[in-house]
Order: sequence, then C-alpha cells, then structure tokens
Amino acid sequence: MEIYNSMTRRKEEFVPIEEGKVKMYACGPTVYNLIHVGNARPIILFDVLRRYLEYRGYEVTFVQNFTDVDDKIIKRANEEGITSQQVAEKYIQEYFTDAKGLGVRPATIHPKATETMDEIIAFVQTLIEKGYAYAVPSGDVYYRTLKFKGYGKLSHQPIEDLQSGARIDINDEKENPLDFALWKAAKPGEPYWDSPWGQGRPGWHIECSAMNRKFLGPTIDIHCGGEDLQFPHHENEIAQSEAANGVPFAHYWMHNGFLNIDNKKMSKSLGNFFTVRDAAAVYGYEPIRMFMLSAHYRTPLNYSRESLEQAQAALERLYTAKDNLTFLADNGAQGGPNAAEQAVLEQADSFRERFDAAMDDDFNTADAVSVLFEVVRAANKAVGEEPTREGAAALLKLVLEFTDVLGLLYGREEESLDDKVEALIAQRQQARKERNWAEADRIRDELKAMGITLMDTKQGVQWKKD
Ligand code: AMP
Ligand code: ZN
Repeated sequence: MEIYNSMTRRKEEFVPIEEGKVKMYACGPTVYNLIHVGNARPIILFDVLRRYLEYRGYEVTFVQNFTDVDDKIIKRANEEGITSQQVAEKYIQEYFTDAKGLGVRPATIHPKATETMDEIIAFVQTLIEKGYAYAVPSGDVYYRTLKFKGYGKLSHQPIEDLQSGARIDINDEKENPLDFALWKAAKPGEPYWDSPWGQGRPGWHIECSAMNRKFLGPTIDIHCGGEDLQFPHHENEIAQSEAANGVPFAHYWMHNGFLNIDNKKMSKSLGNFFTVRDAAAVYGYEPIRMFMLSAHYRTPLNYSRESLEQAQAALERLYTAKDNLTFLADNGAQGGPNAAEQAVLEQADSFRERFDAAMDDDFNTADAVSVLFEVVRAANKAVGEEPTREGAAALLKLVLEFTDVLGLLYGREEESLDDKVEALIAQRQQARKERNWAEADRIRDELKAMGITLMDTKQGVQWKKD
C-alpha cells in the first residue's frame, strides 16, 4: 500500500509503527457553525481511508478533535448571548448529525480542547523547560520558532522566505515575528483556565500536539487534514511535538485538495459556500459522499449542480442493482448459480485485486469506484435472463463487499421505511375522513405487522417502531 507523503512529496510504501495497527489523527472542526461542503471533503475521505485500512486487516485508532475554545466560538457566543461551551455543544451535535448523514463513522476518540487542558498546560511547560518557549509579561506564551531546526520542512519553505514574509507588529511582545502563541492570556469576558502563566486559554496548534501525545503517543502513523492546514498549523504541530518529545511526530502526512466552486476554494471567508445541511436538502446526503469519492483526494474537485446530479444518478444505479439482486435472491429460479452468474463470480478475485490495487495506489477512490461499477454492470448482465436465487445472492454479496469498503448504500433503509409508513398513515387518514373504518383498521393492522405503532394525538398521528 502506497501513500503520498506530503512531507517527502513522494508515494511511499506504508509501514506501520506497530504491525497490524494504525494510529491516525485528523484535525477536526472548530465548532461554531454548520460545516460546509468543503469541510466535508476531508471528513468523508479520511473515513474511507480508515475503512480501507480496516478492510485490509489493520486495527485502526482514529482520533479527530473538536476545537471547542477559539476566537470564533467566543464571538458567536457573545452574539447569541450564550456561553462558548453552549455554542460548542450545539455545533458538536450538528456535526454528528451531518457526519451520520454522510455515512461517516464516529472516530475512535473525539477529544475536546477543553477536556485536554491539563495535558496542554503540561506540554507548554515542557517546551518552556527545554528552551523552546517563553512567557511574556502579559501572560501569553510563545514558541521560539527559529530554535526548531526543522521549521518549514513540511511546507517546504526555507526559513529565510518565512522570515522575510513575516508580519512585524511593533506592539509585539514576541522575540521574533515568526514566534506563535501557545497560550493566550484571557481578555475580559473570555473563558479562561488557570495556568502557571495566569488565566488564559490555549492557542490552536498546541491542542493537536497535546491530544496526539495523550491518545496516540509521541509518534503516530498518519496525520491528515486539508491542504490549507500544512502551513502554519501542521508545521507548528511538528515544531511543538518534535521539540517536546524528541522523536519524529508523524510518519505519513496526508492532505486533501480543495473543494472548489467556480474554481475558487469553497470557504467561509469568501462566502461562496453551501452548508452540508443545505446541500443535503437538495441532493440528499449520500450523493455528496458519492461525489467526493468520484475524484482522487489530492486533486481539486469542483462543486456544481451537474456533478451532484451525476453523483445522484450513479448512486441510483447502485441502488437499482442492489434492489434487483435482492428481489431475485428471493424470487429467482431455485438453486443456482447458472453459467452466466458463475462466470461473473469466477472473476471476483480479479475484481478484488483491481479494486485493492486502486486503493493501494494512494487511495485512488475514483478508480476503485470504476471497478465497483464494472462489477455492477457484470452482475446486472448475468441476471438478465434466467436468474437463480443463489446466483443473485452471491452477486449481491460481491457488490456489497465493495460498497461497504467505500461506505456506500447506507442511506435508503431508514428513508424507505419512513416513506412507506408516512404513505400508509396518509392513506389511513384519508380512509377515516371518508368514514371507511374498516379500511382504516386494516391499514393500522398492516402497520402493526411492520412493527409500527400509531398514536393518535392532538397534533396528529405519530408513530414509533416497536
Ligand atoms: P476550517 O473550517 O477552515 O478550519 O476547515 C476545517 C477542515 O476543512 C480543514 O481540514 C480544512 O483543510 C478543510 N477544508 C476547508 N475548506 C475546504 C475546501 N474548500 N476543500 C477541502 N477542504 C477544506
Ligand atoms: Zn491539528
């Protein structure tokens, strides 16, 4: 399995630190608003990465943080007249709603900055003791960037370029313009924690270094995030972690390319974004996932109505195949498989090899999806004439093997049950209006047989699954 490592700018064979295990970390969202479709790109792709590693037999520990203390959260809290903790809690729940909709499994651990405060403070203290950080009279603590010899190695920027580009602020208490904040003294009205440097809160970068060490140890296998995080965020994480721990921080760095709109990065600051919530209301959640898989994670991807509609159509073909094979597995000719079905089943290994080869080549989901569609076309054709139950069942299993790894075909069951129940309830209401009590009772019984109980309330008919 080869991974393109942003640090070395080459594809490298993946060798885990510990055989059979993978420790991976992805920088998660700052929870002050709904995520947009650009934010969904890393979330979906690193979920696929994790699923694929598990499919290949690795035991994966996946950590994704929530930045739950930050200027933007504080600003939002002040605007809404609630605490920043309330803002964070709200948007963490909203994150999980969208993640679930997108078929993204919860990480192994979702740490929060506010729950890692002891480790963050201890981390800053170590950096001060080792001479990599210094506190200033105001109560801020800064990282002494020039002391770290490898600074710039991830983003491939010579330190001289960074120095000439750095902004100099005359009021600065920093020793050098390149130094960055590890700890910020609290301003009036801001949330704060007690520390050896007074009341304050952590900078953004230190949070990830402290969480990595706490949950995964000093060296991890894979660190991921969007391409815009390479500098300064990941560069600073490396400087902090390697200075404090004295060992390499991450063996592989993976960065996804941008989701663009009209060839510009979709972003909050440009205002050219759609929230996942709004996009899902138009296209559905699962087509967004399908759309993201259609391109390699490092290439730019353009968001447009056409590309989302294409993804919808592609997904529809998968569902049609699944529904058809499911039907035939119950209603085809007894026994099987027949010769046509057998011929496709005999190619299973070669399909698997090609699927794995695509994914092993730096997680080329675009090629993996093509293999999936080849399997689907072959299966559809094989059951075109005299389908057998066993043949259809085996072909269905084969198709689902690939969709499971990619995390597709998860979205319909609930929806179709909901739709069916709602439709039956509407029919029952109509029957009651027409005073057709027998029909209304019959529908109630039909729902009962589906495991649905109806409750006639003042607000209308409600239902629950038994
Ligand atoms: P932000 O909300 O900007 O802090 O971003 C959260 C995560 O989403 C980071 O990993 C970013 O790199 C990623 N991200 C933000 N915008 C985009 C985009 N347009 N395309 C791809 N990734 C993005
Ligand atoms: Zn981070």
